[in-house]
Amino acid sequence: MALFSDLLFEAKAVAKSLVDLTAGAHVRLGVTGLSRAGKTVFITALIEHLTKAASPSLRGRKNTLPVFRVHADGRLISGDLEPQPDDNVPRFAYEEHLEALSGPDGDSQARIWPQSTRRISELRLRLQFQQKAGLNPGRRALTLDIVDYPGEWLLDLPLLEKSYAQWSQESLEAASSAARAPLAAQFRGFCAQKDAKAKFREEDARRAAELFTAYLRACRGEAFSFSSLPPGRFLMPGDLAGSPALTFAPLALDPSGLYPPDSLAAMMERRYEAYKAHVVKPFFRDHFSRLDRQIVLVDALAALNAGPASMRDLEQALGDVLGAFRAGRSNALSAIFRPKIDRILFAATKADHLHHTSHDRLEAILRLLTARAIARVQGVGAEIDVIAMAAVRATREARVESHGGPALDAVVGTPLDGERIGDELFDGKTEAAIFPGELPEDPKAVFRDAVTAPAPDEADYRFVRFRPPVPTRARDGTLAPPSHIRLDRAFQFLLGDKTA
Ligand code: GDP
Repeated sequence: MALFSDLLFEAKAVAKSLVDLTAGAHVRLGVTGLSRAGKTVFITALIEHLTKAASPSLRGRKNTLPVFRVHADGRLISGDLEPQPDDNVPRFAYEEHLEALSGPDGDSQARIWPQSTRRISELRLRLQFQQKAGLNPGRRALTLDIVDYPGEWLLDLPLLEKSYAQWSQESLEAASSAARAPLAAQFRGFCAQKDAKAKFREEDARRAAELFTAYLRACRGEAFSFSSLPPGRFLMPGDLAGSPALTFAPLALDPSGLYPPDSLAAMMERRYEAYKAHVVKPFFRDHFSRLDRQIVLVDALAALNAGPASMRDLEQALGDVLGAFRAGRSNALSAIFRPKIDRILFAATKADHLHHTSHDRLEAILRLLTARAIARVQGVGAEIDVIAMAAVRATREARVESHGGPALDAVVGTPLDGERIGDELFDGKTEAAIFPGELPEDPKAVFRDAVTAPAPDEADYRFVRFRPPVPTRARDGTLAPPSHIRLDRAFQFLLGDKTA
């Protein structure tokens, strides 16, 4: 029966791939990253730039995407939103997000960051461009399907190859590590009291799941910022919020692996397997396996802020993410189930929190974070690159004279209401010059030292969050796409060959 359902599952995946193939010049771009990495902001900025690239109202402005060849060469003719292909996936709420960023009803004082990604959504963009001189001349079109999904879901893919016993053991080991143990105390205390062989009671399962989720949530909190926390739906349930599919947790199991069928362990195992079959597999089949290209956004600055333990955790999570790109090439599904992703870009977001002298260093840190994982997936046929960028630049740079000392490099922006540095509390209305500090020249330095999260005042790198920038408009009122840092490099890597 299991074999039959797997075959059916594979057959469906192949049928979907064939449908995709008939669509012509087409890229299905996955945009992912853990919660608050910058997915919503990135996609909103991407659409703003690509739909307005040829806008007559904005003509004459300096080239805003110099590295994106089709734009820099003046070959991009138009970019238009079109109805998306999948009727059962919510549409990415681009208009709503843009209105948030620019301020409702044109009131720029009311501008806020948009509502972050909570579930999968998609949007279709059709680009028309002139083919590069020398190649077959003429107009070409590229259909770009953008699929936004929580990175937490991607971290679930390795679960497909893990038994409940294996997952339980790994999760409990992670929960007892020095950095996580204090956050997992309640959950571990509960597990220690429970006999996995005892008769199943629903309230035990519910309580275990609640405490396990609370522990995962605490790990994700700002002070710790741990990344590697499957099952992903516990933190990002999407439409499954409150569903019984999420009512399980790891348990300390007997090495014999033998349990009565009506025991707590047996029921937890059943639910874990149901989660894999009804949540993880369909996501892989219906969405992930159809992607051609992928950008993985990483908030490395948040992990830097939280300290070396978070950096190590982020490295582990990025390894798991890349493991997902390899899955299907190595397991039982691989004969038919080959992911087609041929380019993967890792992007450290929010680089506008740093002075440009540190942008290359941020990139070097992300390169180091992904190096081991990249080495492992070498040979799977995907090209991988790493950049530091800001999809929306909320700061500008300045050199600020210090009293008597040398001038210092600062970034200037409006910190969000409630942000603070030392004794200074910001009100969300006043601009401030912030000295973010330099990232170390040697990226390895960010992994050294403390094992637990430092107290906020002890952190080496401190970044305040800024309000979105005040939008600029053309004479006729057309909103100009926001300034950015290296967004054009991301576009060129992801779409350059398809728009040559
Ligand atoms: P998501 O959860 O991945 O969809 O994350 P969002 O795109 O909603 O971004 C989370 C938060 O990060 C936003 O509310 C902003 O505060 C911040 N952010 C995201 N991108 C940028 C950026 O390019 N520059 C700055 N300064 N902040 C950003």
